[in-house]
Parts: sequence; structure tokens; C-alpha cells
Amino acid sequence: MNYFVTPLQNLIEEFEKLPGIGSKTAQRLAFHVLDLPEERAEKFARAILEAKAKLKYCKICQNLSDSDECSICSDATRDHSVICVTETPKEVLQMERTNEFRGVYHVLHGAISPMDNIEPDDIKIKELMQRIAAGGIKEVIMATNPNLEGETTAMYISKLIKPFGVKVTRIAHGVPVGGELEYADEVTLSKALQWRVEL
Ligand SMILES: [Zn+2]
Repeated sequence: MNYFVTPLQNLIEEFEKLPGIGSKTAQRLAFHVLDLPEERAEKFARAILEAKAKLKYCKICQNLSDSDECSICSDATRDHSVICVTETPKEVLQMERTNEFRGVYHVLHGAISPMDNIEPDDIKIKELMQRIAAGGIKEVIMATNPNLEGETTAMYISKLIKPFGVKVTRIAHGVPVGGELEYADEVTLSKALQWRVEL
């Protein structure tokens, strides 16, 4: 049912599509945007379009990049036989901050979550399997979040990888269970990486 005039309704609906935004928050944000001075609104819209236009997914690891191949994938000094799998680009940044990991990454852009209708095909698992099938991979480290979705995703992927004879490990639970890696500090994260266990 439409309580609002169409342009406002459209704006509310766009906000509602964002993760973690319910209908009440969507309405609040939409009204906030309407109250912005013209140039602020324009700046906001332009920032979205520019970020979309300039950032793309690295064709290898699917991390955000401003070129076809990201700086990590094109770095010859890194160990390309070890892939660390994360849910989002934010965890790559976090992992890089530990200075502990010299391998490469694969960003899934989500985790399997039947409750939210997120199936394996909805995240970048196919792209990961193509990399593994291409050969030369010695170890895949599952660094998905230590919550239900992250564990489900890690187990699902490890089953797919096993037939290739590639070692699959899971970062240790130095990170709080039910927590999110994004918020783990560098020391905790680097310990979790050192104490990883084979799946
Ligand atoms: Zn890359």
C-alpha cells in the first residue's frame, strides 16, 4: 500500500533494500535526504555513482579494485598458492593490517544463509572453484565469520575443495564466537591465522 507520493515512496524503497535497514529507518533516511540542501543531495548521489563507476571487482579475487586486477593479485612477491577466503572486502583490509599473511585472497561478497535466501550461487563460490580447478593452489584458509552463516559457508566450500586434494584450513577461534571479524583487533586476528586448523 502506498502512503507516500511516488518519488518519496521510491526513495524509501531504495533505502529499504540496503542491508540492516528496516522500513522505519528507511522512512527516516528518506525524509532526511529530502531535507538536505540541493548541493548536499547532489553530492550524495554523485558519490554513489562515482563509487560504482570507478570501483569494480578484481577479476581474480573479486575484491574491490580500481583496475581489472587488484594490487594484491598482481603482486609477484605474494604467495599465490595460498588463498584466504573472506566474506567481504573489509576483512581483507583487516587481514592486511596484521602484516601476517603473505598469500592472496578471495572475497565471497556474503555468506550462505538459507534464512535470508542467500544460496551458494549468490556469492562468489563459483569464481573460487575456478581458481582452484586451474591448479597451483596449496592451501585455502577459510576466514569467514565465526557465526552460523560463516561456519556453514566454510564447511560447504571445504567439501567442494576436498576432491581437488587442496588443504583447507579454518582460522582458529581466537575471534569471539558469534562475532564479526571486522571488529577483531590485529593481534587476535593474527593469532587466529597462526593457529588455524585443518578442515
Ligand atoms: Zn585481486
